[in-house]
Amino acid sequence: MPDLANLSIKSARDALQKKEFSARELAQASLDVIKEKDKDVHAFLEVFDDVLAQADEADKKITKGENLPLLGIPVAIKDNILVDGKSATAGSKILEGFISSYDSTAVKKLKDAGAIILGRTNMDEFAMGSSTESSAYGVTKNPHDLSRVPGGSSGGSAAALGAGFVLGSYGSDTGGSIRQPAAFCGTVGLKPTYGRVSRFGLIALASSLDQIGPFARTVSDAEILYDAIRGQDILDSTTISDETYPKEKKFSKIIGIPRTFVESEGVDESVKKNFEKAVEKFKSLGYEIKDIELPHIQHSLAAYYIIMPAEASSNLARFDGVKYGLHKDGSDVIEDYFKTRGQGFGKETRRRIILGTYVLSSGYYDEYYGSALRMKELITDELKEAFKKIDLILTPTTPTPAFKIGEKISNPLAMYLEDIFTVPANIAGLPCISLSSGFDGVLPLGIELTAGLGREDNLFIAGKEFLGE
Ligand code: GLN
Repeated sequence: MPDLANLSIKSARDALQKKEFSARELAQASLDVIKEKDKDVHAFLEVFDDVLAQADEADKKITKGENLPLLGIPVAIKDNILVDGKSATAGSKILEGFISSYDSTAVKKLKDAGAIILGRTNMDEFAMGSSTESSAYGVTKNPHDLSRVPGGSSGGSAAALGAGFVLGSYGSDTGGSIRQPAAFCGTVGLKPTYGRVSRFGLIALASSLDQIGPFARTVSDAEILYDAIRGQDILDSTTISDETYPKEKKFSKIIGIPRTFVESEGVDESVKKNFEKAVEKFKSLGYEIKDIELPHIQHSLAAYYIIMPAEASSNLARFDGVKYGLHKDGSDVIEDYFKTRGQGFGKETRRRIILGTYVLSSGYYDEYYGSALRMKELITDELKEAFKKIDLILTPTTPTPAFKIGEKISNPLAMYLEDIFTVPANIAGLPCISLSSGFDGVLPLGIELTAGLGREDNLFIAGKEFLGE
């Protein structure tokens, strides 16, 4: 029986091609461990009923001699990425009962690459959160310590991999929702360059920031999972081609550290220590470390918490009880809207819709939304300038290790501060990878590498050197 917790996609693919085990056996191993352990972790909202049928198809292809990058590999999908014929709720009651009538581009590409779509994973409602506690379908636990959160909003996908249920999984990242849970669950997590992966069929949070990306056990696996879904898509006009960002600069192993930013208030001692160890490791791998000043990135979080709710309030207007999912009857159509949205959306979603509507309202538009956009431009320019002299920026992924369930849920500001290191990459559209960098006791910690636009290649080189695979 294949041992999923200690298997990489690369080695599983080899074993499948050599018929050391079949895709059915691999899928069955995955179903068995989920059955045994997911009642405690609650990573999955649904395990699909056609998993073994998908595996049999993969076995047939293997027998025919086909060799696709993900043939027979079980992967989990965040509950906001549409799969044809399956339910998708984005962790919200308002989408209860909604069945997708098409595949998202990412899922279509996964199917073409031979992957087995195992099921959909839990998430913060509409991807708003850093703990997966705002899901309408219960909390997900951190597989390393069940009293703690797995991070969020893609906490289910991170926990599914961290617990050894799958060989890879996918999430979405608007302000850190892949990288932060990856750090909390001890996995690799990648947010690609904005536009690298199609958002067609991704339930939108903030369209100018959202990107789909993978969770993996190794950097090589993250690269395989990323390659499978990337590419320009006629169904998403914001996708880019391989030529959009020419690779002009040669990789010269120079890492910049924005010291003032890294030493921000509220960063845990254990995180600081772990970070310094990672810096030493990069030095020993032959990297040149430079301290850099990025005076504007400290304002990324403030800009993010205006731009994101503004876009979310507009994107979520479509959930009116008529087109999708939940419907509540009132005495007229306006009351239908009020009732459906009042009962269908959770607290955090309502908070952000109100915030977003406020910052976009005519009297405040320029003061809030306009200023946030100007700050976004300053941050983007500052980072663009920085990458002329360095190849990568290194920071911790999160200011703290995984926190206790319930610890921050009633204090939204404390929760938002979790995103301090992750949001700059979304604001500037840059690719960014979180790498597991050791433990604080039983709790995993992560460091984060950011590269220039379109330079995922640099993240993979440095990531493989750091993790060894
Ligand atoms: N934690 C951030 C938020 O709550 C990030 C969300 C995300 O990346 N989807 O908005």
